[in-house]
Amino acid sequence: MTQVDLLDLDASLTEDERAIRAVVRQVVDDLVRPHVAGWYEAGHAPARELAREFGKLGLLGMHLTGYGCAGSTAVAYGLACLELEAGDSGVRSLVSVQGSLAMYAIWRYGSEEQKQRWLPAMAAGEAIGSFGLTEPDHGSDPASMATRARREGDDWVLDGSKMWITNAPIADVAVIWARTESGVRGFVVPMDTPGVTAREITRKMSLRASLTGEISLDDVRLPADAQLPDATGLKAPLSCLTEARHGIVWGALGAARDCLETALTYATTRTQFGRPLAGFQLTQAKLADMAVEWNKGYLLALQLGRLADAGKLRPEQVSVGKLNNVREALAIARQCRTILGANGVSGDYPVMRHANNLESVLTYEGTSEIHQLVVGQRLTGVSAFT
Ligand SMILES: Cc1cc2nc3c(=O)[nH]c(=O)nc-3n(C[C@H](O)[C@H](O)[C@H](O)COP(=O)(O)OP(=O)(O)OC[C@H]3O[C@@H](n4cnc5c(N)ncnc54)[C@H](O)[C@@H]3O)c2cc1C
Repeated sequence: MTQVDLLDLDASLTEDERAIRAVVRQVVDDLVRPHVAGWYEAGHAPARELAREFGKLGLLGMHLTGYGCAGSTAVAYGLACLELEAGDSGVRSLVSVQGSLAMYAIWRYGSEEQKQRWLPAMAAGEAIGSFGLTEPDHGSDPASMATRARREGDDWVLDGSKMWITNAPIADVAVIWARTESGVRGFVVPMDTPGVTAREITRKMSLRASLTGEISLDDVRLPADAQLPDATGLKAPLSCLTEARHGIVWGALGAARDCLETALTYATTRTQFGRPLAGFQLTQAKLADMAVEWNKGYLLALQLGRLADAGKLRPEQVSVGKLNNVREALAIARQCRTILGANGVSGDYPVMRHANNLESVLTYEGTSEIHQLVVGQRLTGVSAFT
């Protein structure tokens, strides 16, 4: 794979997996790398255009089957996330939210009509989806959500607000989770429904090449068939998060790899005190420790991917991966930044952008603390959430 694959883990990939990875790496080299620093600085990315290009390659909902989805393995999907995030975490977020959150929710819990209506268009990148679980006052504790759906005749009427929603400003459809008389339910909400408004969240210092917004729902009237028929209770959105978190386990490695490769190149070409930075033992210690952590993370991702492909992946195992790989990726990004010295804070190099992005990745899809609590509960049998 690269010089950082010290354990020859690439050898355990199938030919198909390697081929898919090569295609995604190329598309990131062509469509993302030349422009992403500018998008980041501008706080904007051409998400619709990117989605269409990714759709042509079958990257949207790629691990789902039918309805125009590619039906790839979980490992292949993970490798795609890795390569996308080596470009930028925001670009990977676009693909994750589209495929693993919005499309997966409809694919897993939707009616046949909902699947036919949305999935082929979303797989092609012609329709953009978002996933509304977080609210202004309810993040880590979605069970306390305030968004309500009530019945009026056959219709549903939704009121509430969803915050920090990726893709919201450009979305055609949102999967909205709301409390009903019989518990949490999911709704497929076209964004042009009267009463739905999306406000872009600006001034983000992280994930600036991703569009994030607040979705307000003000007396939004939906037909009965807008409800996801098979989604009952909070376990439905949580299962979607498990899908997306698996992609993050891999994706974070991509950001870390890009930082490591940048630092390696920099350390071998930049000279101080008459020798390359790479020649100093302190620099080598940093590089060695980071490469060791990266390889451990890759092993972990591969194990989770293989478990997913065998249909045996459990949510707390994904928590182990998300907790470790994002935490270590962030540590790698920060350490690489030191190797680049002043250039480490420059947008001419990708390292600080990755580090800033990973701050969001650390928080979304369950914060590190929440994943620690999931793992702690598995170990002790005691819930420490409340
Ligand atoms: C760029 C970005 C994109 C996002 N995209 C989406 C999206 O598409 N859809 C969506 O629904 N959400 C999205 N989110 C929201 C994200 O999932 C939440 O921010 C996250 O779940 C944390 O919620 P919070 O920000 O309200 O923090 P809080 O829940 O208020 O937590 C604040 C701090 O308290 C800690 N904490 C909370 N409870 C406990 C506890 N019991 N024990 C110990 N510590 C605790 C947390 O770990 C954290 O450190 C996005 C967020 C960001 C930043």
